[in-house]
Amino acid sequence: MSELSNNEMMNDFRWIMDVVQNVDVGLVLLDKDYNIQLWNSFMQNHSALYAEEIIGKNLFESFPEIDEKWFNRKVESIYLLKNSAFTTWEQRPYLFKFDNYRPITGRAEFMYQNSTFIPIQGLTGEISSICLIVYDVTEQAINNLELEAANNKLEIISQTDGLTGLYNRSAWEDQLEKEFDRLQRYREECSLIIFDIDHFKKVNDNHGHPAGDEVIKKAAEITQKCIRKTDIAGRYGGEEYVILLPHTSIDCAEVLAERIRKKIEELTVHYDDTAINFTVSFGVSCYHESLKSATGWIDSADKALYESKKNGRNQVSIFQHKNN
Ligand code: GH3
Ligand code: MG
Ligand code: MG
Repeated sequence: MSELSNNEMMNDFRWIMDVVQNVDVGLVLLDKDYNIQLWNSFMQNHSALYAEEIIGKNLFESFPEIDEKWFNRKVESIYLLKNSAFTTWEQRPYLFKFDNYRPITGRAEFMYQNSTFIPIQGLTGEISSICLIVYDVTEQAINNLELEAANNKLEIISQTDGLTGLYNRSAWEDQLEKEFDRLQRYREECSLIIFDIDHFKKVNDNHGHPAGDEVIKKAAEITQKCIRKTDIAGRYGGEEYVILLPHTSIDCAEVLAERIRKKIEELTVHYDDTAINFTVSFGVSCYHESLKSATGWIDSADKALYESKKNGRNQVSIFQHKNN
């Protein structure tokens, strides 16, 4: 009877070991000193290390890519709480750095992994070791990362003006609204510039629409070159531009507007065989506590722009807020 039960036990053990070896996840057993006790076929195949070579060796000495401090903290809490723990590829792309060789996800440099840490009780009921289960989630990770990259790209495209590469009107207005809300709370200096190409209809009429497009593009390029990274430039209309200048006084904004004005005045745009010169008119308005809305702020800059147009174009005008 006892012989039969021994045989049964041996059979059980064999099929369990078969499963352990052939299952398509990594299985690693670690004792309390982080010495490796079990290393299944999945781990052998991906690490190119045979179980005979690795069993008995210390995990951190064999795999320096594992952050020892982080791993220790994780395992200590498992011993303490007697609960399983998990890590996902989003938190840490991998536990063991294995090459990725799957043809479909050949774009990944390494195998993305999720892992589970399971506490294993010894005969006394105390936790004697930790079992790591390592899942290859490269396909899922790459799909998610590609989707995320595509979404980011789409978001950028939806915010960008196709001709100039500046923010389009609605995206720029979103930024203005946000900045306006912030300024109402923090009352910092901030200025807004609006400018418009002078007699642009003539450019279109004399040289054609594509030449007009080239002029619009070149004015945007000059603007981009003149502003700081933190400034936010947008195409507000056909040949109308706006720049939001955080932490910038009205005087500094005026200096910038003058610089752009001069650069554009000095520029000659060559299109086909024609050389086109043009000028721009500016309106500048700083944030002021009397402003009721972001739209009111643009209106104030637009009024100053109108002054520039009225007074002969190719110039910068400043909006004077009340009690300024
Ligand atoms: P002002 O000095 O008063 O600003 O004169 P203007 O001729 O520039 O005045 P207006 O704003 O009336 O003319 C703008 C012209 O810009 C009218 C429109 O046909 C043209 N336009 C608008 N969008 C585009 C565009 O994307 N490309 C080209 N080529 N022309 C455009
Ligand atoms: Mg114009
Ligand atoms: Mg216009």
